[in-house]
Amino acid sequence: MKISIQGLNKIYKNGNRALRDINLEIENGMFGLLGPNGAGKSSLMRILVTLMKPTTGSIRVNDLDLQKHRKDVRGFLGYLPQDFAFFSKLKTWEFLDYAANLAGLRRRVERKVAIEDMLENVGLYEVRDRMANKLSGGMKRRLGIAQALIGDPKIVVVDEPTTGLDPDERIRFRNLLSKMSQRDIIIILSTHIVGDISSTCSSMALLNQGEVVYHGPPDQIIKEAEGNVWQINATNAEFESIKEKFHVISTIPDNDGWEVQVVADKIDGFSGKPITPNLEHGYVYFMEYKVDQLKSLTL
Ligand code: ADP
Repeated sequence: MKISIQGLNKIYKNGNRALRDINLEIENGMFGLLGPNGAGKSSLMRILVTLMKPTTGSIRVNDLDLQKHRKDVRGFLGYLPQDFAFFSKLKTWEFLDYAANLAGLRRRVERKVAIEDMLENVGLYEVRDRMANKLSGGMKRRLGIAQALIGDPKIVVVDEPTTGLDPDERIRFRNLLSKMSQRDIIIILSTHIVGDISSTCSSMALLNQGEVVYHGPPDQIIKEAEGNVWQINATNAEFESIKEKFHVISTIPDNDGWEVQVVADKIDGFSGKPITPNLEHGYVYFMEYKVDQLKSLTL
């Protein structure tokens, strides 16, 4: 599968400009779309799943133009929206049965096999007879992804998947997506949580104020931050001025002060050592330093 997004713009009726000249190529596997709130992620996702039209620009899925072939594209698309809600009167398996029907699995026998398989895959087989709205938060998210994946879609879009989940469920959900992405499928994960992306995505885009400011593997962003992440051992007095000067990632109290991790190109006046960056450091570095540099280049 391949999605080609070209020159995509979205301006809402009230004049809000949500997307600016987006160009992206997305291929099989897990693709992460990362950006702060308001960056334009949901707008892009809604256009991708044909719920909204762009103002200008085009999206091609393999050889199909999304605007001209909405019905065909919908046939191989799965979507888990952020505010996914269940009907209150259905059991877990009945809900999946309903979703399978919508996804085009018309024969009962065929649906039964697909549902049992999916319940096993997402770890909900044991609770198949429980009312869907009585499941825990994490189970509901997994049922959400199950309904998006049933019927063997080729593109699955998941919006803010781990919001409201506890750390265990977060890890479980990420692992589930990662397992599912081993097929001939594109899974697009839209999130403002860096940790959702790091372990699972082979490719990603960083969206800021409606623009793609980075597109490539997560490793490359991490690489950019090398030499720009520091650990400083600070006294209480120093800590106050560190908070004013630098972007602080984490603080741990130590014997006589603080152990502080900051993202900065230099830490003049403080004694610290550079540390190996992770994706969160890379994200902060990119947003704080690179985006401003990119902007000044294009002005
Ligand atoms: P994200 O999903 O990254 O938080 P959104 O796509 O929701 O970003 O929003 C991008 C921008 O578009 C924001 O400035 C937001 O206020 C605006 N926006 C989103 N939906 C609408 C809408 N229906 N009408 C007008 N403006 C909107």
